[in-house]
Amino acid sequence: MPTPQLPGDVYILDLGRPDPSPEAVQQAVDRLFALTGLDKVIGAVGRAATPAAGPAVATSPGTAPRCQVLIKPNILAPVPAEMHVTTSPSVVRAVVGAVRAAGGTPSVGDNPGGVDRNSLHTAEVCGILAASDGCFRNLSDEVVEMRLDNPSVDKVVISKFILEADVVINVPVFKTHMLTTLTGAVKNCYGYVAGTNKARLHLAAFSRGRFAQLLLDLYALRVPDLHIVDALYVMEGNGPTHGRVRPYGKLVAGRDGLAVDHVLTRLMGVDPAETRLFQRAVERGLFRPETVRVLDGDGNPVQVEAIPNFALPNTIGVSIEEQAQLLVALGAIRPVVKEDLCTMCGDCAKNCPPQAITLDPFPVIDAGKCISCFCCAELCTEGAMEVPSGEATGLFNRMFRGGSA
Ligand code: SF4
Ligand code: SF4
Repeated sequence: MPTPQLPGDVYILDLGRPDPSPEAVQQAVDRLFALTGLDKVIGAVGRAATPAAGPAVATSPGTAPRCQVLIKPNILAPVPAEMHVTTSPSVVRAVVGAVRAAGGTPSVGDNPGGVDRNSLHTAEVCGILAASDGCFRNLSDEVVEMRLDNPSVDKVVISKFILEADVVINVPVFKTHMLTTLTGAVKNCYGYVAGTNKARLHLAAFSRGRFAQLLLDLYALRVPDLHIVDALYVMEGNGPTHGRVRPYGKLVAGRDGLAVDHVLTRLMGVDPAETRLFQRAVERGLFRPETVRVLDGDGNPVQVEAIPNFALPNTIGVSIEEQAQLLVALGAIRPVVKEDLCTMCGDCAKNCPPQAITLDPFPVIDAGKCISCFCCAELCTEGAMEVPSGEATGLFNRMFRGGSA
């Protein structure tokens, strides 16, 4: 008999293959709604918004107020779905279907990275616009400035609808990240921030510890009600854009994003206690690892087994403060430009937080200004900005692997 649901429960649903049929994905997402109780949450919000009696507002089943649900996938860049940089359209489509079945009104939206990114265009290229089935919403249309109690950043500009939605469902992709090691549930909430502001925040919170603090503060602005992580394919190596994709065939979900990320980090073969995100979360009393319980689709406990030979980013274990201290001795870890792939579009220069890149005609990085944030590598759709895996990086890794990431 399955045990009752607890806040730290994380479900791993094995779909058996990385490209399941739409019906199988829908079934899995419906199951996750039922296991986590989100179907009832959506239904209850809709009912509460409907006047119980009285003549003031005439309601009928077709006109009753419904729960407004924001579905927040990862729409990082305008690249095809087959690259698995963005959330799989099949998962987004299934979440839209599950919200409707629960009686809610879905909206799908994200703030893609970079200054020139048009969310409609980006969503169209990666297949999420079609998967949204008529409910895609440009989150940058209305923004609001929010104060933060954060040592690096005192205010952020975020999309207003994130605060207005009755329910938020976070639908990230399971990927590595050169700066944060993992991009999962909490990091996907960086997409709350509207366009150009992301670069400013990278500059203001340029160490891994400060960036982890910022991620936790952004996440707290609107803690999503459910996280469904697309792990049909996972990205290893130098994610989140140009890592290596491998099939996994699973969905990982839970009501607590930190619990979900705790499980994802273990699946990568990394001890969460050695990452800045979990160090800060525990210090701040936001998370207790002992509350995490991992269950299968029937609600039975399962063991977390690290994905065999999972490749971590070249930057793992090397803090940006430590890189800075070792620049003179070893040379900085900076992206390098692959001129054979570069189209000279200039996106990297426009999105570089300290404006360390000029075009001549290919990008040239000013080593004195570069803060090794890897935004340029993340945003280059051509894969023309690379983090070198050469001797210097290897030495960094050997020196710091096992230290805090
Ligand atoms: S490195 Fe990438 S983003 Fe930069 S100019 Fe070349 S193609 Fe454009
Ligand atoms: S050159 Fe790239 S890694 Fe360096 S600061 Fe600019 S965006 Fe970040």
